[in-house]
Amino acid sequence: MSKRNTDIITEDVKLDGDKIIELKNNNEQFFIMTGKRKTYHILTYGCQMNEHDSEKISGMLTSIGYVETYDEKNADLVIFNTCLIRENAELKVFGKLGEVKGLKRSKPDMLVAVCGCMMQKQEIREKLLKKFSFVDIIFGTNTIHELPALIYNAEINKRKSIDIVDNTELIYEDMPKQRKFKHKALVNITYGCNNFCTYCVVPYVRGREKSREPEDIIQEIKILAQDGCKEVTLLGQNVNSYGSNLENKFTFAELLYEINKIDGIERIRFMTSHPKDLTDDLIKAIKECDKVCKHVHLPVQAGSNEVLRRMNRKYTKEHYLNLVEKLKSTVPDIAITTDIIVGFPGETEEDFSETIDVVKKVEYDSAFTFLYSVREGTKAALMDDQVPDELKHQRFDRLLDVLYPIVLNKNKQCIDKVFPVLVESAEDNNLTGRTEHFRLVHFKGSKELIGEIVNVKITNVKTFHMEGKIEQ
Ligand code: SF4
Repeated sequence: MSKRNTDIITEDVKLDGDKIIELKNNNEQFFIMTGKRKTYHILTYGCQMNEHDSEKISGMLTSIGYVETYDEKNADLVIFNTCLIRENAELKVFGKLGEVKGLKRSKPDMLVAVCGCMMQKQEIREKLLKKFSFVDIIFGTNTIHELPALIYNAEINKRKSIDIVDNTELIYEDMPKQRKFKHKALVNITYGCNNFCTYCVVPYVRGREKSREPEDIIQEIKILAQDGCKEVTLLGQNVNSYGSNLENKFTFAELLYEINKIDGIERIRFMTSHPKDLTDDLIKAIKECDKVCKHVHLPVQAGSNEVLRRMNRKYTKEHYLNLVEKLKSTVPDIAITTDIIVGFPGETEEDFSETIDVVKKVEYDSAFTFLYSVREGTKAALMDDQVPDELKHQRFDRLLDVLYPIVLNKNKQCIDKVFPVLVESAEDNNLTGRTEHFRLVHFKGSKELIGEIVNVKITNVKTFHMEGKIEQ
């Protein structure tokens, strides 16, 4: 059920066709009068989900006549797409809003919008409205599609525009997107999350899990392929539970087989995989689908069963290690990466040593490591046995002392081997790309190769990247 928040100011401004035309005409008029297009600048904080939302925001703004500027000082509309996951996210956004305040003073017609996860929290919205009353537009993770209406209301009706929906079962297909890259694309397959890990705000700010219909996903990827896209990353808070709420059941494994058939797509990635939902069928699909990259990001978070219980992760260390074993024996060249939280409330020295044990046993190809920090509104924030900061930092350093040599050693095993690398960016003749195992590779070559898959022989490795040369 959708629950629209009470602080809506724009109920009356659902955009009908006429208003969209009026908004577009206004922007066209602005162009005729000034010789310039109206410009927007988006500051995106946080994860790939937010990056993808920003692509949708860009797409909608382009469709009503805006063009992007990389300098906020030149922008007619500045949008903050915010995140709540990272520590100090609020401070960062509020600090930047403080800078934009001066800009708004000198350019009163400039619109300032704030959206994303932070705006789903009423207390943060209230704080923002109090401290930064100049903000014109506020919208949440479930109301991105309303942006043109909100701009109309702010620009033409001169009203502050706020639209937040707490939870929704609706999925808005066909939102225009302005893709950042031609050769790769992010594709949502699910929205929201049902898992309620006790440290995480996502279920509260992005709502319950909803899966897109497989036909809609497949159609989107076919269009991407026709447009020259070679690599898709399927996005969801837990892609493994894809399809569980669809009327006609369809599993994530089945979806992979279907996407694997699409001509033009050469690589399929996905994230994130929850260990409790990684099935044998899915492991088989990873092995059998030749386009599915042999890389699984499988967040373990902690090695101790007691900590995993307190985190509400719904698996044990033994179950996790068993999955890793299955992955490695079924897909022998699989790369496994993870997320680890150090210093979760109540974590003892013994618990921490279980995490180290998992790291040693799995021999991760890479890992994102985090110091636990309190997220207001989560169950873990209320747990009383918080680990002192100094101890957290000590354990964090000890974890890296174990992890980094393992990662480096994995990279060393790549020396003198040749890997297909998708070239992603270039600075002069220095190219950067990724192997199917998600390893970052730097090598020399022409920037014309961006978007191509080239064979690269690895000549040198570091912990976080490898170096190589193109193999002719
Ligand atoms: S699975 Fe857990 S950590 Fe991941 S988004 Fe859902 S609640 Fe957050």
